[in-house]
Amino acid sequence: MSQSQVQNKDNIHSLDANWRDDALDLELNYGMQTIAVRAGQHRTDEGEHSEAIFTTSSYVYRSAVDAAGHFDGTKTGNVYSRHTNPSVRTFERRLAALENGERAVATASGMGAILTMCLAYLKAGDHLLAANQLFGSSIGLFNNYMAKFGVEVSYVDCFDNDAWANAVQPNTKVIYCESPSNPLAQICDIGYLSQLCKANDILLVVDNCFATPALQRPLDLGADVVIHSATKYLDGQGRVLGGALVGSDKLMQEAFTVIRSGGISMSPFNAWVFTKGLETLKLRMQAHCSNANQVAEFLVNHPNVSTVHFSGLSDHPSHELTKRQHHMKDGFGAIMGFEVKAKGTHDPKSAAWHVIDSTQMVSITNNLGDAKTTITHPATTTHFRLSAQERAEAGVKDGLIRLSVGLEDVEDIIKDLARGLDSL
Ligand SMILES: *Cc1c(COP(=O)(O)O)cnc(C)c1O
Repeated sequence: MSQSQVQNKDNIHSLDANWRDDALDLELNYGMQTIAVRAGQHRTDEGEHSEAIFTTSSYVYRSAVDAAGHFDGTKTGNVYSRHTNPSVRTFERRLAALENGERAVATASGMGAILTMCLAYLKAGDHLLAANQLFGSSIGLFNNYMAKFGVEVSYVDCFDNDAWANAVQPNTKVIYCESPSNPLAQICDIGYLSQLCKANDILLVVDNCFATPALQRPLDLGADVVIHSATKYLDGQGRVLGGALVGSDKLMQEAFTVIRSGGISMSPFNAWVFTKGLETLKLRMQAHCSNANQVAEFLVNHPNVSTVHFSGLSDHPSHELTKRQHHMKDGFGAIMGFEVKAKGTHDPKSAAWHVIDSTQMVSITNNLGDAKTTITHPATTTHFRLSAQERAEAGVKDGLIRLSVGLEDVEDIIKDLARGLDSL
């Protein structure tokens, strides 16, 4: 195989105008792990083996006429890093290949990707129909800002197919969901939603942050756009912020013009971190999921836990659906919610706080998708800004704890959780 690029056979990436086209058109069908390690690399004449970081805000032209050509469209190439940057492009190409999309557009954060989605695909008078189980800031963005710009927003139970169908309106333009969802790890039937969207001329947008392409490829299941908070598993080590949208060339061009005009672009350094993160994504996700399956088993058998929200459990209502939607065997994700029983002097909230405060190793933080196991009390942190009613609709109870199972020895994770649960 030669120098620079791996391309998925089914997915020849059209290079947009600002990319120096040195990709090799390899008519070979590489596996996902090969793509994760090699796709999208932009090798310079220096011959560097590993992906370089291009920390430059602008680019030079050979002459005045060359400069003019970059603006009138007769020349292709980089103009400014708010638009394009080689390091960002490498990440975009690699992620697009892994998600089996034609193109990806990288953004400054996951919320930047969701804002870009709203600005690109919605206008005043449109209806955004969303799952009621979402990352807290997504709900905040939709309710506080999309509503302000005249977009109608409503929510439905994400696992209830009939509820989705009944909530579609003539002006519905986007259906938006996460699967698995935050914080209750609920599963949406993406294939069903895709049919509903196609029949009603609606875009289906899926936040694939919790599953990642290592577990699930929403575009293959019929979604139009995939959203990522790269901040989570794509980095995997909690270092930098970033996000992305993935989909068809046409939809991504609309997103690209938003980030170019709005300045929601990803930093080259962050893009480099994510590019390297993708190389180990599948291996990390296998380990995350294996640990998570064992932690869920421990929790479900603990007398002081009333409910475990995790579709890896065989009696979970979405267990079979998850097995169909996720292509990694035994890969149900590594984020789960569990509800602690009120006991003795503890009400649900103080019982949950007791379990959290009794950990010695696990990090008390609102972040997730990290090599380090993290523990969160959503009602008083990530979902605190929601009204009591919004929290209730999102199923965020006072006794709920969200756990993002990391890559430590699973025995140590379980021991750390048991300390508080045993002493309630
Ligand atoms: C964290 C997260 C986001 C937002 O991403 P940021 O990178 O923090 O802006 C969106 N969706 C989900 C599911 C998330 O977990």
